[in-house]
Amino acid sequence: MLQAEALAEAAGTLDRADEVVLVCHVNPDADALGSLLGLACFLGRRGKQVVATWPNGLAEPPRWLEALPGREYLVEPKNLPKTPAVLVTLDAADPARLAGLEHLLKKATTVVCIDHHRTNRGFGTINLVDGDAAATAELVFRLIEEMSGEITPDVATCLYAGLVTDTGRFQYESATPEVLRIAAALREQAFDHAALAQTLYEDNTLPYLRLLGKVLDRAVHDPGADLVWTYLTRKDLKEAGVAIQETDDLIDVLRTAREADVVAVLKEQREGGFKVSLRSRGKADVAAVSARFGGGGHRLASGYTSKADLEETARSLARALAEARG
Ligand code: 5GP
Ligand code: MN
Repeated sequence: MLQAEALAEAAGTLDRADEVVLVCHVNPDADALGSLLGLACFLGRRGKQVVATWPNGLAEPPRWLEALPGREYLVEPKNLPKTPAVLVTLDAADPARLAGLEHLLKKATTVVCIDHHRTNRGFGTINLVDGDAAATAELVFRLIEEMSGEITPDVATCLYAGLVTDTGRFQYESATPEVLRIAAALREQAFDHAALAQTLYEDNTLPYLRLLGKVLDRAVHDPGADLVWTYLTRKDLKEAGVAIQETDDLIDVLRTAREADVVAVLKEQREGGFKVSLRSRGKADVAAVSARFGGGGHRLASGYTSKADLEETARSLARALAEARG
């Protein structure tokens, strides 16, 4: 449950601030960036000095970033104030998710942590953390409400992007009547929701689709772990001429496999090791499995980073899943 006290404190802090620094998690998804830019647009219009960024830097943006307003607030991480008075973190479950920007947590006078991951222990001065919220964008919506703020079309576009993606286009169990009411309130604003959805979901390149075919072709079914998994290497990306940030939705195709409860995609990282993404169709708590490897997330969608090679990463994952099944 979102605490009324935390909501009021966060609203008061932002109301009083002249300058606000906003950051979201590394390799941001549309909820992280939608929340970041939605709040940036809102605070900017309130006359605050706002800068926003994410740990990767702006050089390799997600392909759908251009669909979101508020990009004028983005700065390179190196240009952030060194000692912000108010720092807001969005959609980051723990400090490690801020990757190179973690040091700001110690430098900031007040940290407002806004997040909906159950594994979030509240690393801010003020924690607007609600594991029941469908998206961080929902919490930003509530915060703007608390500040008696106006939802404008640019804010609505950003928050809608977060809601539509984190609820799997309003399909997941998190898509409650209340979430649909918030979505409806956002849709009262004039923005092209169909164009936004097309950019988010139906805007792939042919090289990516061919790579998707290759990655699906080598999927492995491990009945003992109730798992279907596949992998993607740096070499695959290079050969296909595809950027890693184009492959975020690959797992959403794999997760439709009825043969197993859990699917995993293991993506080789530039610095070595593998980023593991997990999705459950309902039985396994994959947040708990990821937490065993130092990661986290949600019950049905989680992730972690493995320093091991492909074989060992797959083996240790299968073992953990088999153990979790008991
Ligand atoms: P994805 O597989 O799409 O990268 O992430 C799925 C979910 O798990 C997201 O909610 C994301 O925030 C969370 N997640 C992914 N990787 C990590 C990680 O390394 N640590 C934590 N704490 N959460 C993660
Ligand atoms: Mn989220």
